[in-house]
Amino acid sequence: MTARPPFTWIVLGSGSILPRAGHGPAGNALAPTDAERVTLFDCGPGTLRSLGAAGFGAHAIERVVVSHFHPDHCLDLFALAFARRNPSGPACGDLELVGPRGLAALLERGAATFGTRSWTRFERTSVVEVEPGERLERGALELRCAPTRHTPEALAWRAELGGCSVTFSGDSGEVEELAALAAGTDLFACECSFPDDRAVEHHLTPSGAARIARAADVGALLLTHFYPELEPEDARRVAARTFSGRIELAHDLSRHVPAPRPSAERRAARP
Ligand SMILES: [Zn+2]
Ligand SMILES: [Zn+2]
Repeated sequence: MTARPPFTWIVLGSGSILPRAGHGPAGNALAPTDAERVTLFDCGPGTLRSLGAAGFGAHAIERVVVSHFHPDHCLDLFALAFARRNPSGPACGDLELVGPRGLAALLERGAATFGTRSWTRFERTSVVEVEPGERLERGALELRCAPTRHTPEALAWRAELGGCSVTFSGDSGEVEELAALAAGTDLFACECSFPDDRAVEHHLTPSGAARIARAADVGALLLTHFYPELEPEDARRVAARTFSGRIELAHDLSRHVPAPRPSAERRAARP
């Protein structure tokens, strides 16, 4: 069966805040196959620029889902507010911003930093702050979140659309909550910041990401958020020692589709 996947996961930034060719700060777009507007997952600096390279304008953003408030994951929110007010661009429709508690205050402080008459204040925008474990339904799209212990507010997100799912770790410690959120997901976009021998607390390594992918029995593991000291191919090689399923590597503008998982019966029948 080769049904069209219900969405494509487009990586807009696959690195950290440190400059690195091909790996900019965190940003991703969930692009439904049968709709024109996308949902962003994180919006670090350079996300809008990458979005243009991927073929979408600011008006094509329906929603931004934020994992946490580190600048490499949210700084382009203010660029987006500015872009939406630009009179020369296509008119922007309503926008929804979803994130942890504190999102509204962050937006307010940021806009104030640029001045009270600043164009970095959002218009036609609803801000939704969620608690860990909360579930949101937006038409055919369902969103769930879980805490990752990276920062007090940090959340991982799972999206379901058209019978397929993607889970995005944001930044994360190696925590059970992330494995539980990702359980059985078709595509698991997981941060993989540092090599195993240079692990940093509250971030993941290739082996850590692979352990979560294995525990969650995901369809495919997509490694992302590479710091400069981690070569993506090395990350794949190390992760493959622990996770035997498909492993994909993110680079800026790479596209990924949810992998149909083997049915439970077929997996049970394996030797
Ligand atoms: Zn972070
Ligand atoms: Zn980060």
